[in-house]
Amino acid sequence: MDQVSDYVRPVFSVVVPIWNETSVIPELYRRVVQIMDSTGETWELICVNDGSVDNSLELLLELHEKDPRVRVLDFARNFGHQIAITAGADFAEGDAVIVMDADLQDPPETILDMIAKWREGYEVVYAVRTERQGETKFKLWTASLFYRLLQRITDVNIPLDTGDFRLMDRRVVLAMRRLREKHRFMRGLSSWVGFRQTGVEYVRAVRYAGETKYPLRKMLRLAIVAITSFSYLPLHLATYVGFGLAFLSLVGILLTVILRLSGNNFFLGQATTLVSVLLLGGVQLIFLGILGEYLGRIYDEVKNRPLYIVSRAYGFVGEPGALLTGPADTTQYSSGAPAAK
Ligand code: UDP
Ligand code: MG
Repeated sequence: MDQVSDYVRPVFSVVVPIWNETSVIPELYRRVVQIMDSTGETWELICVNDGSVDNSLELLLELHEKDPRVRVLDFARNFGHQIAITAGADFAEGDAVIVMDADLQDPPETILDMIAKWREGYEVVYAVRTERQGETKFKLWTASLFYRLLQRITDVNIPLDTGDFRLMDRRVVLAMRRLREKHRFMRGLSSWVGFRQTGVEYVRAVRYAGETKYPLRKMLRLAIVAITSFSYLPLHLATYVGFGLAFLSLVGILLTVILRLSGNNFFLGQATTLVSVLLLGGVQLIFLGILGEYLGRIYDEVKNRPLYIVSRAYGFVGEPGALLTGPADTTQYSSGAPAAK
């Protein structure tokens, strides 16, 4: 019998993005095996190596050799967390796909709660943080502010205090494969597709080892992606501020005329002129910048480059050496046996 007909799609796919996570990989594997085996179902662990420069890849390949349920996608360079998750979900074969971080801040035990909800018929089960351990006050505060702002200004209902840690039914994953926008905020996209959604609560643990890969700069960038992906409010603001300033200057004109006619020797100094010109210049530049944010994103869409480039895939079927750049490649890749090395 050939290998292909032996192949059974796993029930669960666990997708983990990996960027320089040598210090957590062994423990991650241990915990995932422990939890996933306890479900009594078949499963696969898809690790997306997002251009690590330490020896994460070697560790992952060792695991893959030992345990073919571990499959590895090796990116040609660092494409970023959200793209790594996208690739993992593109290649995932399970009836349900669970996305989690490598650093065990998302406790694998929560997966069991998610699976229970999934069996009840929910198609997206996101994990809601009730508590975050070991984060700075600043991160907690900015995160909380950000989620609330996003909730107010966007049309999609992105649940408060959720990260990317979630379970998605295969139908949701198939729907998400159709969304190929370049600047991605996965939590938003997984809300946007709809389906029956619910949350399970969990306590976000401290990072098992290593350093956070999300410094303030990257968090800000993700926040801007989130806002521009799901809201036009920044563009509308230009209109509102424009009307506001135009109204103010109308009042100013009327006031000046009246004061002049009533014989008041009202004189606006140079400083006033200078300040108002600077103010207007500043406001205009800000909105030009905002326009630029949207314009740049349109440009990236138009270029239509693939979201990522997988230099090698381990544990997936297909022509060895072919470049993998998205779901169209995965269909050819995923229909057969695992690990034809
Ligand atoms: N990550 C990635 N590519 C990146 C940055 C991060 O694949 O460019 C992965 C990282 O290895 C981890 C997950 O994304 O599995 C979340 O990163 P991290 O835990 O550092 O973020 P934090 O929890 O501090 O927000
Ligand atoms: Mg983390």
